[in-house]
Amino acid sequence: MQRLARQWQRRGIKISFVPTMGFLHEGHLSLVRRARKAVGNHGVVVVSIYVNPTQFGPTEDLSRYPRDLKRDLKLCRAEGVDFIFVPADAEMYPGKAEERYSTYVVEEKLARAMEGASRPTHFRGVTTVVAKLFNIVLPEVAVFGQKDFQQAAIIQRMVADLNFPVKIIVAPTVREPDGLALSSRNKYLDADQRKQATILRRSVLRAQAAVKQKSISAARLKADLERFIQTAPLARLDYVEFFEPETLEPVSQVKRGAHMALAVFFGKTRLIDNGRL
Ligand code: AMP
Repeated sequence: MQRLARQWQRRGIKISFVPTMGFLHEGHLSLVRRARKAVGNHGVVVVSIYVNPTQFGPTEDLSRYPRDLKRDLKLCRAEGVDFIFVPADAEMYPGKAEERYSTYVVEEKLARAMEGASRPTHFRGVTTVVAKLFNIVLPEVAVFGQKDFQQAAIIQRMVADLNFPVKIIVAPTVREPDGLALSSRNKYLDADQRKQATILRRSVLRAQAAVKQKSISAARLKADLERFIQTAPLARLDYVEFFEPETLEPVSQVKRGAHMALAVFFGKTRLIDNGRL
């Protein structure tokens, strides 16, 4: 992959990159289209499909994470992707099985709260694999989804802090008609859970409405949303936070322009969403 990327670079061909864990849906494909738009028809669009073990905690869903490579390849082909990079664990983490892999990339500030608090080693895995993929694919541009808002912020910080010559584009969240953000993990939901899963989006809309006219204390808004989420009996709130969109610093008074993110369990399935208020 790196040798190919070098050849493209030498010929002046721009590389646009979409990292994914596969089981592709319309959200991923919207990133592919954004990647194409960034480099045009003379550029090359690369999609990676890799379920990265280092971003899963020991009790998480690594082994049951949905996979369908054949379907993914078909979708990529139909979307005009030029190259699909599907590395094996032994290629991405050489020597890891024998405990000879020992280098990780860690962002130390933005990665602490929210997803990082609930999933302590998650972002270390994400920044490590994305740094590795950038070094392998050598993209000029990489596209990430706003669906994973904190992840996009951390990648942008990593790129700035470590001088990666990559422009990061963050593309909007693609949703089902009822508002549920598309996610490979939606596949885990049974029919009742799926119906109630709209509570994430409806919570963001409720918060948006609450701050439309005047600001409200974060504690009060949080208490209101906790009660609201209880109206979906299968939902178990993990966290809901209000913060500055750039720094991810929590705000004590929530007003328009603040950002909100939440994570909700349905059984073992954990869903996230976010939005600008
Ligand atoms: P994943 O395969 O879940 O690791 O996601 C790969 C990329 O697709 C990440 O940049 C995600 O933020 C993005 N993505 C996932 N779901 C959506 C969605 N519903 N809309 C837009 N982007 C998404």
